[in-house]
Amino acid sequence: MINLVNVNMTFHGKQILKDINLSVKQGEIMVIIGPSGSGKSTLLRLMIGLLKPTAGEVWIHDREITAMDEDHLNQIRLEMGMVFQYSALFDSMTVGENVAFGLRQHTTLTEQEIRQVVRRKLRMVGLSGQERAMPSELSGGMKKRVSLARAIAADPHIVLYDEPTSGLDPIMSATINRLILNTRRVIGATSVVVTHDMASAFYIADRIAMIYKGSIIAMGTLEEIKASTNPVVAKFIAGIVG
Ligand code: ATP
Ligand code: MG
Repeated sequence: MINLVNVNMTFHGKQILKDINLSVKQGEIMVIIGPSGSGKSTLLRLMIGLLKPTAGEVWIHDREITAMDEDHLNQIRLEMGMVFQYSALFDSMTVGENVAFGLRQHTTLTEQEIRQVVRRKLRMVGLSGQERAMPSELSGGMKKRVSLARAIAADPHIVLYDEPTSGLDPIMSATINRLILNTRRVIGATSVVVTHDMASAFYIADRIAMIYKGSIIAMGTLEEIKASTNPVVAKFIAGIVG
């Protein structure tokens, strides 16, 4: 469960997020849509404690991460995985090392156990046998899948995806969407997915929230969002603004 209560975020005196109240239920897939620059990535960073809001509270289950010191935050982050907007793989590490990174840093698993987890996660994302490949040898879709395998390496309760299908062709996008659904099914993860891709949103979302100029202007099921009478929401969904 993720709960944002009256969250505000200001960068250099400019308000980027305004009074955000958002609750993501256990096991739910919440999709965040909204134009470029509306604050979507900032919202995900707040959820995982990479940023602290200027005001307001962020709760993960029954723990307020906005009140935590860095040590406690690091513990909470073990329960969370994030697929970053630009994949953010470590270019000097192999695929296997990338997926193993968090496990090596934060768990007491043996090397053999880590190798097994890496093999299993790479199989799950359709990249069996790619342990020794370097990120520079991979296509965009493969990098996204490595990033996903890394995010779910420690079986997190919460997975945050920032534009997981951007720059991918429709077939690879569909593959990633199936992986997001599969991740929820296999590890029961609560998921938040930021996307510009309405087809993806419609395919995977339990609920959709739309951010516009730092505020949530619509939230609900696919049917509810489609039926929104807010002209900005209607235009965004029709692909007219974005
Ligand atoms: P996109 O769809 O292009 O990825 P976004 O909705 O994810 O956009 P954010 O990356 O959250 O948008 O950025 C929202 C606003 O906050 C932008 O105006 C951006 O310039 C600003 N911003 C984000 N991070 C910082 C930062 N660390 N310092 C200053 N301004 C920032
Ligand atoms: Mg972004």
